Amino acid sequence: MVAEGVEASTCRTKKNENYQVLLVEGSLELRKLSSPEYGPEKFPEKGPKADVTCVDITPDILIFGTARGNLHYYHLDETDALLSYEYCHCDGGIKRIWANPEGTRVLFEDDRKAVYLHNPFKDQAIPVPVQESSELESAMWDESNPSIFVLWRPGQIFVYLYAAVNIHSSEVTLLQSAVLPSDICPTGLNRGALTCQSDDGQETIILPTHTWATKTPHDQQQFKQRFEQMLSTLHLEEALADAVSLKSSQCWEMLVSKSLEHMNVEVAVKACQHSGNIKLLTSLRELEGLEDFLLLRGHILSLIGDFDAAEESFLKSSRPEAAVELRRDLEHWDQAIALAKEMQSPMEAEIAKKYALLLEKQGDYRQALSYYEEFLKTGNLDPQQRAFAQTGIARTSIRLGDIWKGKHLVTECGDSLVYRECAKILEGLNLHEDAAELYVLDGQLEKAIGMYLDMKNFSKALSLLKRVDSPKCYTNYARALEAERKLTEAAAAYVAAEDFESAVRLYLGPLRNPTAAFSIVRKARSMEGARLASRYCKNKGDYENAIEFLVLQKRTEEARELAQQQDKMDVYTERVADVASEEECSKLGKYYEAMGNYEKATAMFEKCGDVKHALKLYMSWGTPEAMEHAISMVGRQKDEGITGQLLDFLTSDLESSDKCSRNLFRLHMVIGNYEAATKAALLIAQKEQESGNYKIAHQQLLDLCRVLKKEKLHVPYELSKQLMLLHSYTLVKTLIRLGDHKSCARLLIRVAMHISNFPAHVVPILISTVIECHRSGLKRTAFEYATMLMRPEYRNQITSAYKRKIESIVRKPEKTEEEETLTPCPFCKLQIPETQLECPSCRNDLPFCIASGRHLTAEGLTCCPACKFPALLVEFTKLIEAGKTCPMCHEEVALDDIVEKPLTDI
Ligand SMILES: [Zn+2]
Ligand SMILES: [Zn+2]
Repeated sequence: MVAEGVEASTCRTKKNENYQVLLVEGSLELRKLSSPEYGPEKFPEKGPKADVTCVDITPDILIFGTARGNLHYYHLDETDALLSYEYCHCDGGIKRIWANPEGTRVLFEDDRKAVYLHNPFKDQAIPVPVQESSELESAMWDESNPSIFVLWRPGQIFVYLYAAVNIHSSEVTLLQSAVLPSDICPTGLNRGALTCQSDDGQETIILPTHTWATKTPHDQQQFKQRFEQMLSTLHLEEALADAVSLKSSQCWEMLVSKSLEHMNVEVAVKACQHSGNIKLLTSLRELEGLEDFLLLRGHILSLIGDFDAAEESFLKSSRPEAAVELRRDLEHWDQAIALAKEMQSPMEAEIAKKYALLLEKQGDYRQALSYYEEFLKTGNLDPQQRAFAQTGIARTSIRLGDIWKGKHLVTECGDSLVYRECAKILEGLNLHEDAAELYVLDGQLEKAIGMYLDMKNFSKALSLLKRVDSPKCYTNYARALEAERKLTEAAAAYVAAEDFESAVRLYLGPLRNPTAAFSIVRKARSMEGARLASRYCKNKGDYENAIEFLVLQKRTEEARELAQQQDKMDVYTERVADVASEEECSKLGKYYEAMGNYEKATAMFEKCGDVKHALKLYMSWGTPEAMEHAISMVGRQKDEGITGQLLDFLTSDLESSDKCSRNLFRLHMVIGNYEAATKAALLIAQKEQESGNYKIAHQQLLDLCRVLKKEKLHVPYELSKQLMLLHSYTLVKTLIRLGDHKSCARLLIRVAMHISNFPAHVVPILISTVIECHRSGLKRTAFEYATMLMRPEYRNQITSAYKRKIESIVRKPEKTEEEETLTPCPFCKLQIPETQLECPSCRNDLPFCIASGRHLTAEGLTCCPACKFPALLVEFTKLIEAGKTCPMCHEEVALDDIVEKPLTDI
């Protein structure tokens, strides 16, 4: 651009590379230099009267002003000029204009001599502060800095700064004025160097604001000066370079402040990096790349603390929510909520939430409640948010005295934390009943119990106690009851708390119920309880219980002393028996021995392991009872030494051999010497049998059999045969009762064949045999035994009732004989007589049926559920139906328990 200056008041020319413009009497003529053949284009194209007063041209733009006060901007391309912008200045006509090299800013003077700076991008004309002393000569823009321009008049020049970008508002400031020799005329301005035309030719004047533009500083002072100058002319990058050299926090602050004021985030970031201002740097980083001017402005304003301006800027920006965020982050809750509500921002809920919490914390419950309620009203709450609101309402309601509503909401939420919070609040408000209720709901039963106890609400406390298994709680409960003198309940509670001592104390003391106390001590085996009880009993002269409780406390020495003093040794012995030490037992043994109480003495000696001495006592005691005890002890101890000693003692005792063999039998049994036991038993049984004590003999043999079977030992033939004979004999009576004379006859024949085994009853047995055989058609056998009875040694013994009958059988002998029924041998199946117990074919001794005396068959078998002896199923059942008890062991047998068994199981 070339400024041609003022040529004439009516005719002025301006041109650029392509165009020339001529102002002639209010009109413009624009010529294209490259094509002079075309005529000039006239401006304005239309409109009433042409009133252009001034014109300027830049490489791309043609600007002119009018007397009516309009500024027109035309865009020039290679072929055309197009109106791009129009501005109307309301305060008067435009007289002169000066455009900057880009045509983006225009200084104009109106007809009242006021100067303005017009920025077409902002549609804004800013007054330029001018001292109104004399007329302005001209104006000029700095080619390298679009913010600097100068005005001058004769003798004086003014340097101005126009900051297009400013967080507050765009403005024009007078930086400095300087003297300008009156004979010179400025023709160009570049980086503060003013080129002037004077009479002496061209010269350059450096503007006072730019003295450091080309100089190099040599010291800190000079650096500082240059830094400040760069700052004031908004050469921020250069200022930054100097600040780096200066390393002064004050300079950094100034630079940051200036950068922010002019929204130069880039420089501000660099300044923060250099100065280590991490906090601001972090904030600024977030602003980098932010394109929305107003948004950026808002953020910077908030950074420098001008929040109202920031809010205003945000609201006008593309993201008005930033205003809400600003107030929210500042915790300006009222404003935040108002803004959020106004713009229906989704942040409203969150802000209400935070505000409510804050208010609640500050104790403004009423206000907090209203915000919680507000929050609850905002739609689309998730369950968590809903719960938050409800619990807030619950808490504040409680605080405000609406307990019912609060509790209702708390219960509805069902959240543990809320229960706890509200319970605490209620507790703080001394509303213990309500608090306890919430603690219960929260499952803090122990806490609730404690509160109920404080309130002396024992029934509530008890109902909760049943739900907690805590001795500690029971103890507290019991103590509270005791404090209230509810002693019976307290004692029961102490027991539940396992505080037996306290329970015993109450029962022995104020409750006057020693029986209950003693029973607790015995059941719980409580040492402390026993201590109280023994003392009590001793004082009351109840020495037996005193001894018992002393023993329970393991105070045996004391117990024994007391027992001796009070002649209660038996009581003591009985109590101490289970817990006494060997030493104690030995002492007791000696005590009883001295007292001549062998039974107790021996028991104690055995207990302390002195079995030899115990046996010695038994032997010197010598009674059947002593022997019985001695044998039992030997059985328990399984000690070869004392076993031999007792055996020797028993076998050497020749005087009462019968008793002796019984003792020997028992001794052999207890020490497990079954062979010897069997011999002894057979001997005893034989003696009993000889004396006609068949029942005793039978029992003796049966017992032995059962022991042997239980021990899975072989039952000797001799034993089973003798038992079989005895059993056959005892069975006869049963069968006669049932009217089965045939079976009776067969069994009597078996007995008669071994009549020497029954010496005490030879004649009666033979008589019965004759009678039963004769009656059952066994005439030949009847005759044979009748003949035997006619022997002189028997004949006189026949009772008169049978004498004639037997004599007649002998006199008229009948030799007919009924054949015996045959049944198969269980082993070889040979058909043999049913009462025959040896098989002629397989040579087996056949087991006999305990119900009929017959031999077993291979099938249709059972055994007695009690003694396990075998029987024919039909016969055993018949017998049990008639008599209910087993003929062998005499135990009662239920019919249902009789089941068929295979031979192999018998
Ligand atoms: Zn056989
Ligand atoms: Zn039986």
